[in-house]
Amino acid sequence: MTTQEQHQSNIDKMVFSRAHFKCMANVEAAIKNDPGITYLVQAINAAGCKFSLKQIVCTDEIGNKFGGAMKRVFPEENEPKPMIPDMSKDKILINQDYAGIVDEGITIRHELIHAFDHCRIKDLNENDCYKIACTEVRAANLSGECKFTKEFMGATKYSLSFLGRKVSCVRRNAIKSLMGLPQCALKAHEFVDAVLTSCYLDTAPLPSVFDYPTPETSSE
Ligand SMILES: [Zn+2]
Repeated sequence: MTTQEQHQSNIDKMVFSRAHFKCMANVEAAIKNDPGITYLVQAINAAGCKFSLKQIVCTDEIGNKFGGAMKRVFPEENEPKPMIPDMSKDKILINQDYAGIVDEGITIRHELIHAFDHCRIKDLNENDCYKIACTEVRAANLSGECKFTKEFMGATKYSLSFLGRKVSCVRRNAIKSLMGLPQCALKAHEFVDAVLTSCYLDTAPLPSVFDYPTPETSSE
């Protein structure tokens, strides 16, 4: 490596560290200020899967398609499959290259809804595009990423125009997520439309799409 290359490499590492640091600071702030994140982690644990806030990490290994992703760690072939998924080694990856561009709190909620679905569905296979479409609809709906339409429309939360806009936003975002998966991309619209109504109405673990209950204060 020439001196010039070494210099460039040092600069690249500095940029990497800065993005990582910024992302981690945003993640920590989101965890601290957003009780919805703690609530979802508690719901995953209440469903029997072990998952902690420490498993939410910033990385540059996702590529540029997604703001976040779930990294599941499955048992080895020769290991017994637990009745309830062991999620203690899983990670929620937050794309540090998007730090300051996206709202990390919304990204974390989005991935936590996926984590909850992985926990309760147990066999959420990444090749089952209908099930993937369902969890994408739920994540778009319950993360808050389509919440802006309420303010944008100046509408009350139950008005028809608001609900119509919100469903459109959820559908659009779910399709976009599926388009990023080669195994589902070609029929992304079809998969999402087939499950949209039922999965939009499935708000578990929330009592309704508008309610993030206060988390238990005893844990985390
Ligand atoms: Zn997603």
